[in-house]
Amino acid sequence: MAGIIRKYTDIVGESVIEELFILAERFGDRTVQNVNSTAVGGGVAEILNRMVPLLNELGVSTTWDVIKGGERFFEVTKKMHNALHACQVEFTPEDWDVFAETTEANVETMDITGDVVFIHDSQPIGLIKKRRENDNDSKWVWRCHVDFSSPDPVVWKFLKKFIEKYDASVFSAPQFSKPLKTRQALISPSIDPLSPKNRELKDSEISGVLERFNIDPELPIITQISRFDYLKDPVGVVEVYRIVKKSVDCQLILAGGGATDDPEGEAVLAHVREAAGDDPHIHVLLLPPASDIEINALQRASAVVLQKSLREGFGLTVAEALWKSRPVVASAVGGIPLQIAHEYSGLLSYTIEGTAFWVKQILQNPELGEKLGRNGREHIRNNFLITRHIREYLLLFHSLYHEEDVVHL
Ligand code: UDP
Repeated sequence: MAGIIRKYTDIVGESVIEELFILAERFGDRTVQNVNSTAVGGGVAEILNRMVPLLNELGVSTTWDVIKGGERFFEVTKKMHNALHACQVEFTPEDWDVFAETTEANVETMDITGDVVFIHDSQPIGLIKKRRENDNDSKWVWRCHVDFSSPDPVVWKFLKKFIEKYDASVFSAPQFSKPLKTRQALISPSIDPLSPKNRELKDSEISGVLERFNIDPELPIITQISRFDYLKDPVGVVEVYRIVKKSVDCQLILAGGGATDDPEGEAVLAHVREAAGDDPHIHVLLLPPASDIEINALQRASAVVLQKSLREGFGLTVAEALWKSRPVVASAVGGIPLQIAHEYSGLLSYTIEGTAFWVKQILQNPELGEKLGRNGREHIRNNFLITRHIREYLLLFHSLYHEEDVVHL
């Protein structure tokens, strides 16, 4: 993706790109080091994959490292993830030991050299132990990507001890912010309009993908793209489809892959396959990593895109579909209402029946779908593109080095 930053000018205007260069220049030769827990799968890897090269192109030397952990560690961190999302989860003393041991191993083996050390989510949060005493020049930022509106109190208490050692924490939506002694910024995620996942596609590219997956282009398509995760409620999506199918002929695509830090995927996929049974109009597609063009094509080919999550940090898949002017019906959870103003830039739902009702409305009134898609695309252009996201991160980094200045993010 060498030399592409200028190409964003056509989408967001020249002044936006000029401002990014100015902010980057003022950051001088300081470096940024990102750390997360997976290079592939899920929204965090999706964003870093696009943002790291762009920051480098702007002149901010930026790297991205991934912590190492075994199967047991990722089982524990998935439990923590579920508990943060208000699921009932029991932790054993051994779980906490596994978390501590893997943290120690990474503290010992990882090189932390960034001026800004940018730690994503709870899996690598303990790396803060590596912070050198009296080192005021490096700044540590903890970025929370999950739905933090009602975290399990035990996990919250555990994480808070780490979070308050950082210079600042970043949350995606106002309802996730928490009483903390340290600074907080609200910065929502973003999509990259020029990535293979979101760029314009030729009709032949879309029809090629449909053909490859044996999908009938004539029958209206309802799609949910997600990791196979209970919190994305894929079985609920099958139930929605069954209700809709009673009154409007349609087909369902449930497409997703795994993430290396999510051990639950296989069990969820088996559950989904069982729910789908032998209905030839339900396509359960297990996508390998880097299926960006396939996802792009499936979203573009859809009459309706669903995101029926039970909890959601932000839901990049919503922004991706809206950017493609697709009408989206999504649960009113986490960061989704930031993206969807009900009946303006999409439709918000609360139940399986409600979701099915809105899907039918769209399938039976194509003008409604067109209007929602059109407004959705403009809402994403104005608020959730990667250029805005980079600008806010750069402002945050600046503010850490200039505490005395007031910075409005
Ligand atoms: N995604 C993907 N392959 C898949 C499933 C999802 O590339 O098989 C992408 C999806 O297009 C989106 C991201 O992974 O860009 C998921 O981000 P989101 O915020 O929707 O959910 P998360 O997985 O982070 O909970």
